Amino acid sequence: MLGTTRLGPFFETILDLIYPQACQHCASKIITHSWSAKNTPSHVYFCTPCWESMLRLNGPVCPVCSAPFQSESTLLHSPSHVCGDCREDPPSFSHAITPYRYEGVMAKAICLLKYEQRTGLAKNIVDLFMADLSGLEVDWVTAVPVHLSRLRSREFNQSLLLAKEIARRKEWPLSLDMMTRIRKTDAQVGLSKKQRKKNMHRAFRVRHLDQVSGQRLLLVDDVYTTGATLKEAAKTLMKAGAKAVTVCAPARMVFGEGNSHNIDHRTPTVLQV
Ligand SMILES: [Zn+2]
Ligand SMILES: [Zn+2]
Repeated sequence: MLGTTRLGPFFETILDLIYPQACQHCASKIITHSWSAKNTPSHVYFCTPCWESMLRLNGPVCPVCSAPFQSESTLLHSPSHVCGDCREDPPSFSHAITPYRYEGVMAKAICLLKYEQRTGLAKNIVDLFMADLSGLEVDWVTAVPVHLSRLRSREFNQSLLLAKEIARRKEWPLSLDMMTRIRKTDAQVGLSKKQRKKNMHRAFRVRHLDQVSGQRLLLVDDVYTTGATLKEAAKTLMKAGAKAVTVCAPARMVFGEGNSHNIDHRTPTVLQV
């Protein structure tokens, strides 16, 4: 049970039996114990089989933006083959790390973090992809900023919570405000590729040039949707003199595979930037 930490194990067990938590994905009952090492937010909101069911993007992906290729053999003969998007409009970032599909449990976990202030989940989500960050050399970590008006209504930037946890675990310096969002952009839903790019045009401005100039940066977002936001933010940083920008989001929307039945119903709101 949540909020029962002062009642003691015996009463907690009784309360858990009377009012067990339900898994946020499959609704099965979860018995939680505050003295258990497993009582982390991921185990409070999700049952273990659900948490472990998250789908990684394990197939061949674009070596630049990490978009999954439809064919398993795409990279067999030309490992540096980049996707059509990256050829048509090369991003300013050097690499995108987007290890999980934005669907099912991952989508729900991000919605809980983003809209219901379950901030403890940031640590569990970062746990899932720490290995994907190995080998990276980073001078500063920062998050894609949200516009001040959105920050007022939501009170915190969920991407910054993820960036903060990455910085803590990797012992990389964290910048809270390297960049600012100077334009409140429209929702990206239903826009064409060209319109999305135009929508994001000059949405950001660098605030601390000393943290950018000549630096290797890791830019964190919660979901990689169309990439328009991260591309524009990375472009702003590179124009300001960054040495390299790697972008990272735990989850990625995968389009064109008919998997929408498995996506959380609140998904469209996440597309708003
Ligand atoms: Zn479950
Ligand atoms: Zn690509």
